[in-house]
Amino acid sequence: MKLPRSIEEIRSDFPILSVKVHDKPLIYLDNGATTQKPVQVLQVMDELYRTANANVHRGVHYLSDIVSERYEAARETVRAFINAPKREEVIFTAGTTASINAVAFSFGERFVHEGDEIIISGMEHHANIVPWQMLCERKGSKLRIIPFSDQGVLDLEAYRSMFTERTRIVAVTHASNVLGTINPVKEIVTEAHRHDVPVLIDGAQSIQHGIVDVADIGCDFFAFSGHKIYGPNGIGVLYGKEKWLNEIPPYQGGGDMVASVTFEKTTYNELPFKFEAGTTNFTGAIGLGTALDYLTALGREAVAEREQALLAQATGGLSSVSGMRIYGTAPGKVSLVSFLPGNIHPYDAGMILDKMGIAVRTGTHCAQPVMDRYGITGTIRASMAFYNTEEEIDALVKGVRKVTEMFA
Ligand code: PLP
Repeated sequence: MKLPRSIEEIRSDFPILSVKVHDKPLIYLDNGATTQKPVQVLQVMDELYRTANANVHRGVHYLSDIVSERYEAARETVRAFINAPKREEVIFTAGTTASINAVAFSFGERFVHEGDEIIISGMEHHANIVPWQMLCERKGSKLRIIPFSDQGVLDLEAYRSMFTERTRIVAVTHASNVLGTINPVKEIVTEAHRHDVPVLIDGAQSIQHGIVDVADIGCDFFAFSGHKIYGPNGIGVLYGKEKWLNEIPPYQGGGDMVASVTFEKTTYNELPFKFEAGTTNFTGAIGLGTALDYLTALGREAVAEREQALLAQATGGLSSVSGMRIYGTAPGKVSLVSFLPGNIHPYDAGMILDKMGIAVRTGTHCAQPVMDRYGITGTIRASMAFYNTEEEIDALVKGVRKVTEMFA
C-alpha cells in the first residue's frame, strides 16, 4: 500500500518538522514519547476556541449544543477507529495513564480482594505497573509477572500456568515502548477468558501503528493517549465492554456523571457519562477525532508499511555500528529501536545526537523493570513515524557511528 501523497507533502502538514534545533534541521525520532501534530489538528483546536467555545453538555444555548454535537461526533470517530461495538463503550480520559488508573481503581474496588492476584507482564511501562501495585497495597492482593525472553518475547507457557482461582484481571501492553515487541494480545485474551478473567490492553504504543480492532482482540478494556497518535495532549480513551462498565463504580464524582443528587443519595448517569466527571477536555477530544480522521485518510495500512520499512532500515543501519547492542529483536515489532553503542552512557550519546539536531529518547523509558531484566541502566531509543524519511534514518546511523568514534 502506498501513501496517497508524497512524503514531502505529508511533512508539510507538520509545521514543527521544519524548525531548526542547534541550527540544524530537526530530525525527530522520539515519536514513542509523543508525536507531532498536523495543521488539521492545530486548526480545529484554534477554530474551536475562536468560534465555538462553550461547556460541553451543559446548556441549551447554541454554542453548547454545537460543541456537544462535535464532542459526540469525535466519540463516534474513536469508536469506528478502534471498532468498538458501541459508542457508550468509549470514555474520554486524560490519557493512557488516566485510563489504566480508572480501571485499577474502579474494577479493583468492586472485584479485587485480599489474596487475589493480578497478572501483568515484565515489559510494562510504569503506567501499567504502579496503578496495580497501588491497588495491591490497598487490597492486600498480589502481582504476578509474565517473564519474557532475551529477544523480548513473552513466555506464554509461563502465562498459561499463572492462572489460579484468585486471578482477577490481566493487564498487558499491546506493544512494548522499549523493545517494540507486539504482543499476541488475542491469544492472551483467549487464555484469560478461558478462566473468566477480563483483560486490559495498554494500547499506548500500538494505536498509532496500524489497525487496532478491539472487537477482534476481544479485550475487556483498552487504553490509549491522544498525543501519541498525532492528537492533542491531555486527552485519551478508555474503551470498556459495556458489561464491565455497568458493573464497576465510577472513580471520580462530580458534575455530568450523575442522574440525580440529593444529600441522601446520588444515582449515576448512563454510559459513557458515568465515567466522565466534570468538564472534560472537549477541545482535546475533537482534536483527537481530527487526528484519527487524518490517519484514516492517509491509510493506516500504508502508514504501518512505511513505518516497517523505516524500522528495517534503522535496525540494519544501527546493527552495522561496531559494538552495537539492540534490545528487542522479536519477530513482530512496532517502529522503534532501543540500543546501546558499546559502553557509552545513553545520556552522553543522546546529548551529542541532540547537538546534531537528532531527537531520541534516552534512559529507562519509564520501564525500569525492563532495564533490570537486562542488567542495564538505560538505552537510547529511536522511534519512527510515517513522516520520518530515509535520509533521517541515515543521519541517525551516521550520528551514532560518529558518537562511537568519539568515545573509541
Ligand atoms: N504505556 C505505554 C506502553 C507507554 O509507552 C506510555 C507512554 O510512553 C504510557 C503507557 C503512558 O502514556 P501517557 O503518559 O500518555 O499516559
